[in-house]
Amino acid sequence: MPKLAQLTLALLLAASLPVHASGTPEPSEAPASRWSLPLDGGKVSSFFGALRGKRAHGGVDFSTPTGTPIKATDSGTVVASTNRYDGDKKYGEVVVIEHSNGLRSLYAHLKERLVRVGDMVSAGELIGHSGTTGRSTGPHLHLEAFKDGKRIDPQHLLDEPLEENALRQALNAKRNGDADAVYSAPRIKAKAGKTSKRSRHGGGKAATAKAPTRAKAVASKSSKRTRRG
Ligand SMILES: [Zn+2]
Repeated sequence: MPKLAQLTLALLLAASLPVHASGTPEPSEAPASRWSLPLDGGKVSSFFGALRGKRAHGGVDFSTPTGTPIKATDSGTVVASTNRYDGDKKYGEVVVIEHSNGLRSLYAHLKERLVRVGDMVSAGELIGHSGTTGRSTGPHLHLEAFKDGKRIDPQHLLDEPLEENALRQALNAKRNGDADAVYSAPRIKAKAGKTSKRSRHGGGKAATAKAPTRAKAVASKSSKRTRRG
């Protein structure tokens, strides 16, 4: 292509691009919220949606020693700081922060809270120390995320992938809680000579009995409330 034609094309393209009069981004252009991790060094011991009995886990657990500094995932206003959230003690000492875009973060089982309702916090600000208060089997942070009052997977907001920093049992439990994983598992062909038997996947009987139960539990997870704790 001749140079002049190239230049003309470039100019035409530039002219067709929208130019904003001011540098202020419009609301619809606002970037999606990203959260920073609420602690340093904690390993994920349970993912959102992991099945516990027939219920799905409503948050992400980070295994961490008692006394670990817990930080706000994003800036916002403290809307709860209590040991009896929603009239229940199971969360133990808990802090809830309201962010922009209808988002809330919840930090449970703390040893101590360092903020009060109405406090404005900035992203990364210290809000308390981890512990094992309330219904908890060991020192950890239970983090929940809400969008417009509905629980969502905190992993979708965190700016770091959690799989790389998770305990093996958490990864296994996550896979087991995933209906797609159950049904997309490749079928293992029956060996020649064995005509009627199924694959070694739990001897067939167990597999057929298990799958619907799981699917049901997962289905109810998406439509109903998930368990707190
Ligand atoms: Zn938890």
